[in-house]
This record gives sequence, C-alpha cells and structure tokens, in this order.
Amino acid sequence: MSDSFDVVVIGAGPAGYPAAIRAGQNKLSVACVDEWKNRDGTHAFGGTCLNAGCIPSKALLESSELFHRVHGEFATHGIKVAGVSLDLLAMQKRKAAIVKASTSGITALFKSAGVTGLQGHGRLLPGRKVEVTADDGSKRVLQAKHVVLASGSIPMELESAPFDNDSIVDSWGALDFTSVPRRLGVIGAGVIGLELGSVWRRLGSEVIVLEALPDFLAMTDQQLAKEALKHFKKQGLDVRLGAKVTGATIANGAVTVRFTDGKGDQSAEVDKLVVAIGRQPFTKNLLAEGTGVELDERGFIKVDHECRTSTEGVWAVGDAVRGPMLAHKGKEEGVMVADLIAGQFSEVNYKTIPSVIYTAPEIAWVGQTEEQVKQAGRAYKVGSFPFLASGRARAMESTAGFVKVISATDTDEILGVHIIGPLAGELIAEAVLAMEYSASTEDIQRTIHAHPTLSEALHEAALAADKRAIDFPNR
Ligand SMILES: Cc1cc2nc3c(=O)[nH]c(=O)nc-3n(C[C@H](O)[C@H](O)[C@H](O)COP(=O)(O)OP(=O)(O)OC[C@H]3O[C@@H](n4cnc5c(N)ncnc54)[C@H](O)[C@@H]3O)c2cc1C
Repeated sequence: MSDSFDVVVIGAGPAGYPAAIRAGQNKLSVACVDEWKNRDGTHAFGGTCLNAGCIPSKALLESSELFHRVHGEFATHGIKVAGVSLDLLAMQKRKAAIVKASTSGITALFKSAGVTGLQGHGRLLPGRKVEVTADDGSKRVLQAKHVVLASGSIPMELESAPFDNDSIVDSWGALDFTSVPRRLGVIGAGVIGLELGSVWRRLGSEVIVLEALPDFLAMTDQQLAKEALKHFKKQGLDVRLGAKVTGATIANGAVTVRFTDGKGDQSAEVDKLVVAIGRQPFTKNLLAEGTGVELDERGFIKVDHECRTSTEGVWAVGDAVRGPMLAHKGKEEGVMVADLIAGQFSEVNYKTIPSVIYTAPEIAWVGQTEEQVKQAGRAYKVGSFPFLASGRARAMESTAGFVKVISATDTDEILGVHIIGPLAGELIAEAVLAMEYSASTEDIQRTIHAHPTLSEALHEAALAADKRAIDFPNR
C-alpha cells in the first residue's frame, strides 16, 4: 500500500469520516486514521456520535419513550395492555445492534468512496506527515498533501466528583447501565444531561438534576426553556437550578453528592451519578513538536472560517474546533474542507445550524432567540402557534408545546424559529431550509402545507407573525 496520499484525515467521527468520503468522491487519494476502541477492545469507526453519543442515546430515548407511553397513553387511545414489563437487557441489545450497523456502515462507505481506513493512533508530524501507531506498537509514516484533524472531544471531569466508571460515570457509562438505578443523580442540565435523565426517568428512576447555572437551558429561547422546564418537572425530573456540586462520596454502593444552592449546603443520595457538565476538545498526543498548529486558550485547534489551521495544508473540523459541538456541524465542516482541498467552492453557514434536544416534548431551534434579537436592538415581530390547536398533534395525543417564529419587522426576514413539541427535530428542517434560502416570513405563509400535518404549525406561526393565522385567534 502506498504511504503517500492527497489527504490524510485523523479521526473518523461525524466530522472526519464525511471529509474522507467527500475527498474520495473528489477523486483524491485519501486515508482516514481512527483509534476509537469499544469496551470489548474492538475498533470501530464513527467516533463519539455513532459509538457513544447521538445514536445509542437516541436508540434508548426511543425505547424508553415507548415504554413510558404504553403506561401513560395507550389507555387514552382505547388500547388495553396488561403485564407490561421492562427487559432492559433486550433494550440494550437493540441499542448495541443499531450502533454496530451504523459503525460497520462506515467501513462499507469508505470502500465505495475509495477511502483507506486505518485503525490506530495518528500524530501529525512537521511537513504534513502523519505517524500511525497500530495496536501492536508498529509505526508507519504517511505523507500527505493535506491533513484534516478531526480528533473530536471527550467528557469534562468534575474535580469534586471524579469518575470511577461504576458509581460515578460519564455519558457513555450512563448509556450502558444494565439495571435501572432506583435513584439517579445527573450533574448538568444541558442537552446530554436532560436526554439521559429522561431515559432513566421513563424507565423508573427517581432523577435529580443539579445545574450550577441559575437559568434553565440558558442558550435556548427563554419562552421555550420555561415551557420545557414545566413539562420536565411534570414528568418527575427534579431539576435544581443554581446548585453547585461541592463533593461526592461513594460508600456501600451509593453516592452521596453534596451541593450548595440558594438554601445553603445540601446533599442527595443516589445509586448512580452521571457527570454531564460538557465536553472538551481532544488533542492528546495529536501534534508533534514543530507542526505549527496552534491551540486556543480553551484547547481548541485554532481555525479560520474555512477551517484552515495556522499551518498551510493542515485543516481542522468538528468538536476539536470552535463552534457548537454537534455532529451535523462537524459533518458540514468536513465536507467543506474536502471540497476546498479539491479546488471547489464551499462554505458552512454557521447562522443556520439547527439545535435539537431529543426530550419529550422535543426542542429544536435555528437562528436567534428572542433575547438575542432584543439585545441586538432589531425591531421584530413574533408569531406563535400551539400544538394544542393542531389537528394532527391532537390525533397523536401530543399537544404539548408550540412553534415560535421571530422575524424582522422591516425586511420580513426570518431571524429565528423555535419549536417545542412533537417531532420538533424533524420540523425544524423546513425552517433551516427557509433561512438558508433567505426566505421571508411571507414565503412560508404562501407555501402550501399538507393537512393534517404537524408542519402546519410552522405555517400558522409564520401567519401569526402578521396576525393572519387562520386556526388560532391572533393576538
Ligand atoms: C451522549 C451524547 C449524545 C449526543 N447527541 C448528539 C445529537 O443528538 N446530535 C448531535 O449533533 N450531536 C450529539 N452529540 C455530540 C456529537 O457526538 C459530537 O458533536 C460529534 O461526535 C463530534 O464529531 P467529531 O467527528 O468532531 O468527533 P468525535 O465523534 O469525538 O470523533 C473523533 C474520533 O477521532 C478519534 N481520534 C481522536 N484522536 C485521534 C488520534 N490522534 N488518532 C486517531 N484517532 C483519533 C476518536 O477516537 C474518535 O473516534 C452527542 C454527544 C454525546 C456524548
């Protein structure tokens, strides 16, 4: 096998593997090196997202939601069920099969795009060389015209509650419980903490969520955040805001977690504690002396808007660089870089990256929150439509939440769309497309939406921005 490639990608997560595939599609010779190992010691492509993040978490969210709905909702539909019980091992087996199908799919995709997939540790050397160390310690050096760094991120550890990978675990550990903890503590009410808390709550855990910040989902439009908190509390998630964890002690198979909040020093005893306080860029042993690639003060690889690092011919994408830590953001960066390397036009529109929280109700948004628009001093109008008024949502027995469209008063430009409700993560795609095409609010108003669908809620919210909603009184 040749050791010389047009492109060598380090990391085969959702940022790295699309970069490699697109480079292959662009008729460049490409190798992609990845060191991910699963708990059984086997290698797998796909990075955090496929092995320990997006995919396994969504598999469990889906299963646990079905379990919850059998109990809470089927009777309303007139479906009588008796003897429902949980087979957690079967649920976990299904999750594992989905992960396996997804990760082995990448091997097939590499083959069809002509990508050489290599398993081992990649280290950038000066002169666009990449040293690959295999499991047995053997080394080879690849020469590349371009190198793409896509080394991703790892969970942050909390000094006051260090992982022991049994009682105190990270998000990966929390996806692998083999029994339902009677009491679960989650540190961090961010996206990952809320999703994991929801999974185990639906399966029967008592869940306490400790969040250091005083505001709930501070990055989200606060009207949605308030609505979400109301539903989560109703579901039994005990969310404590302004709760700073000061320590955790493990004894007799239980964890005592200590925290301070407005009421002073407090503690809670739980069977498992999940630390989900965020993720940090992973660049350990990635850069040899003299590569010239710079990191910023938080450890992210420094890049410009086209993901060029400070060294010519070296690019970096995904969680290892600035911007939201999202799989689809990394994917678009990977594809952009592979196209730019091939001399084609490409760009990432960072203003239209959607965010989704896969709780029930689901939360999704794109563009600016009302707070951000207000702060920017822009004159704006807001249109909202509740799912309670949607025929399809009523038929689905999923009427919680609403759609909110924020538009500029002067130009009618859509500035942000925020959805909390059924399939919000799917519905947001229309808003992303509209914003990507610079559609006006009137464009959505004049677009025919099938009846009865959830998407009508976005249509009606756009109409409501001009007080022209049909299916809900205009305010
Ligand atoms: C529980 C959880 C749920 C999530 N859910 C979602 C979701 O629903 N939607 C979403 O958009 N995002 C989600 N994320 C975030 C998402 O997983 C990340 O944004 C995404 O995986 C980042 O992709 P990446 O390719 O940059 O890095 P990673 O996926 O971390 O992949 C990096 C890869 O590079 C390898 N690597 C690192 N250094 C080297 C080296 N020197 N040599 C060789 N290989 C190396 C790593 O082993 C890894 O395989 C979730 C994350 C978690 C933890």
